[in-house]
Amino acid sequence: MPEKTLFEKIRDREIPADIVHEDDHCLAFRDISPQAPLHILVVPKKAIPRIASASEDDARLLGSLLIAAAAVAAKHGIADSGFRLVINNGRDGGETVPHLHIHLLGGRPLDWPPG
Ligand code: AMP
Repeated sequence: MPEKTLFEKIRDREIPADIVHEDDHCLAFRDISPQAPLHILVVPKKAIPRIASASEDDARLLGSLLIAAAAVAAKHGIADSGFRLVINNGRDGGETVPHLHIHLLGGRPLDWPPG
């Protein structure tokens, strides 16, 4: 059995997190190092390492992650003001946790392009 990822440990309640949403396929919790007033990670319960390793079989799951992210944004009152969804992939993409996650960022104007 491979070592669980950090986010699997959060999924399994082995590590505490401020969970704001859970459904059959995904979990959303506050980022421990927020980069915006609202910074939530939307994570599949299935341990897909990164978007580059997702397969056609994951298409439905990936869609439901995006829908969940938008619903979490709406629940936190930033659907109208706007928000950003980010997936970091690999070293140059800034990925630090090898378990696919969508960053939901909002609550302030966000610069573009990102650094
Ligand atoms: P990334 O750099 O795209 O892989 O994003 C990983 C994110 O996980 C970073 O924004 C971290 O701040 C966040 N993070 C790391 N450990 C925890 C934790 N225990 N609970 C919540 N967020 C975490």
